[in-house]
Amino acid sequence: MKKRKILCLIFAFVVVLAAGLTGVSVLGVRGIDFENSISAKNEIDGVYIDWAFNYKADGYEIHRWDNEEKEVLATLTKLRKTSFTDETAENGKEYRYSVCAINDEGESFETKSVTLKRIEAPEFLSVKNGVGGIELNWKKVEGVDKYTIYKEHDGATSLVAELNPENPCEYIDTTAVSGEKYKYSIVAVSDGYKSAVDYEKSSTYVPAPENMTAVNNNGSVFVSWGKVTGADSYLVYKKTNGSKWTYLGTYGSDITGYIDYSVVNGNVYTYTVKALSEDIYSGFDSFGVSVNYVDMPRVQTLSNVNNGVKITWNAIGKASQYRVYKKLDGETTWKFIGECRSTSFTDYNVGDGFQYRYTVRAVGDKGGLSPYEESAPVLALKKPDIKLYCGTKAITVKWNSMPLADSYRVYKKADKATGWTYLATVKADKNYYVDKQVKSGVNYTYTVRQVYSGLYGSYDTGVSTKFTAAPKLTAKLSPKGLKLEWNKANAGTGYTVERKTESNMTWKQIAEVNGLGKVTYTDSKAKYGEVNYYRIKVKGTNRISDTASIYGIDPKKPAVALTYDDGPHPTVTHDILDVLEKYDARATFFVVGSRVPEYPDCVKRASELGCEIGNHTYNHKILTSATDSQIAAEIAKTNSVVKNITGKLPTVARAPGGSYNNRVKGQVDMPLIQWSVDTLDWKNRNANSVISSVKRNTRDGSIILMHDLYSSTAEATKTIVPWLVKEGYQIVTVTELLQLKGIDIEDGSVYFSAS
Ligand code: ZN
Repeated sequence: MKKRKILCLIFAFVVVLAAGLTGVSVLGVRGIDFENSISAKNEIDGVYIDWAFNYKADGYEIHRWDNEEKEVLATLTKLRKTSFTDETAENGKEYRYSVCAINDEGESFETKSVTLKRIEAPEFLSVKNGVGGIELNWKKVEGVDKYTIYKEHDGATSLVAELNPENPCEYIDTTAVSGEKYKYSIVAVSDGYKSAVDYEKSSTYVPAPENMTAVNNNGSVFVSWGKVTGADSYLVYKKTNGSKWTYLGTYGSDITGYIDYSVVNGNVYTYTVKALSEDIYSGFDSFGVSVNYVDMPRVQTLSNVNNGVKITWNAIGKASQYRVYKKLDGETTWKFIGECRSTSFTDYNVGDGFQYRYTVRAVGDKGGLSPYEESAPVLALKKPDIKLYCGTKAITVKWNSMPLADSYRVYKKADKATGWTYLATVKADKNYYVDKQVKSGVNYTYTVRQVYSGLYGSYDTGVSTKFTAAPKLTAKLSPKGLKLEWNKANAGTGYTVERKTESNMTWKQIAEVNGLGKVTYTDSKAKYGEVNYYRIKVKGTNRISDTASIYGIDPKKPAVALTYDDGPHPTVTHDILDVLEKYDARATFFVVGSRVPEYPDCVKRASELGCEIGNHTYNHKILTSATDSQIAAEIAKTNSVVKNITGKLPTVARAPGGSYNNRVKGQVDMPLIQWSVDTLDWKNRNANSVISSVKRNTRDGSIILMHDLYSSTAEATKTIVPWLVKEGYQIVTVTELLQLKGIDIEDGSVYFSAS
């Protein structure tokens, strides 16, 4: 006890000294012995001061210095209380506090002072489940250096974060674990002073659904989200064009998708989802997931046009463009092939005979992409390449064969016609069409589509040419080879001569003629013993002559012409033709016109075997005793019936009985053929007699007279033909014989032989 009193005295003395030194006025120190301890701290409602109890004091005076301005905050009398809360301290201001103990005798003694900066407690506005963690929000406190956040979990407190006050007063604790409970506290700090602590308990953490997606389906939007562990259900919300959230419904924990059928093309829909666990809601993504709903375009037509596949589809309102995709039928991956604003697209990058599928997606004006569906398959059928040739009377349209085609359709336009005219369907084994309906000087355009299994292929604007007749070509025998002649072209740079033969039916160029002036060519290398075909092309144009054909006969070997008059006869003529056919020989039949309609097959067969059909009058009339008009009629009627059967007009004639004069020559107006070997078969009716006559009298260039009315003549022919062949003769027609020997054949002239 004694010792304590001495200590107190020493204390009092020190206090007096300290007060004097700091300029504090110290009055009336007698009697009160006051512990000099005081402390201060920030509380929620103000600065809390407490001090040591003084048993001699009847009360206390609380002093606050703002700088050196002293203010008596309160006088506490008859109170045993040793604490006081300064509710008037201003946030951010530093104060010094002291307490003066007072008693009834007016004695007092002041404590030492304590300095504190007033910092308001940062009050939690909310602690709640947010997106990705627990979201903390608090009321800003001015003038602080930092905020310090702690959390209590499972009885342990840990520092969560120290935050710069310049940032918004919010924080997401991303370390929160689903289903766990946390308690957060926040302290504001300034100049080393701390605010009081405001507490707010969070609920159990329920994470917000993540990985939300919204995609356009046909007539709906499909919204999906990631499963939240522990969630009992989900609440789905929607906004239309940025309006307010509307609640769509609550769905069980096993559902993580929602199909919204209540959508309209062109609107932007935003969705968000909350999870609910027991009675605790998760936070939600306030931005949500948005999609511009765009209706699905449907492919309407697929067609082969312009050497590509053209796709059309229905227009979608507000679409900014369309994206077109394709794949080979059977493949799974779509390939983007282009975009456009119109509702059609042509894919030129297709292969003939390949089958494709297409799809189209509309892009909304606000960026959405429509759903899509795949089209029916379409077979790409490309167009054939066309070449046009002007012949003498027709345009030949020629194209390359297409592998799949089972036919081709040919179309035409004349001059300025706007639409195509269908011309013909051509079977696949033929790849040309001859259009005879053409006029000189008119421009014609053609296009060709292939057809496969009823499906029409592509076509395009076609290929055009003005029709200008090609030169007419004739071929005949000559002593130097096969001689070609044609009429002069009026444009071009020259001619090329092409040949093919029965044994090689591929056209081959055999000569080139420069300039338009020379219009003949003699082929000395023709194939003898078979048909040679010729055509000429006018260089620098697309003109090509009709094909001229001629049986090749060697001018260096001897030749004779067998002639048979007065037929046809139903058996004899055929018997003779059998022999000729067997030895690849040809004869000339001077037919009686009136008999031709009775036995047309004889005449037809003879012509087809390459034999020549000559005119022997219609009624076997002796022309020297006929009138001019009778002669003309006899000749004309026969020419007509022969042409009806063979398609060709006779080019030579023989007067019945060989009787002619100048009047007859003039009226017949055809080359008149006599003979150099008379077998007298009509008179003898004996094969041997005919044979020996031929053997005795025949030489190179002979024209041998017989009649295909008698079986003896047919019999003789069976010996004569092989004998002539053996002797080295070529057995040819009269015209061939004369040509071969270089004799000009003129109408009204008479020929006895080619010797
Ligand atoms: Zn006769």
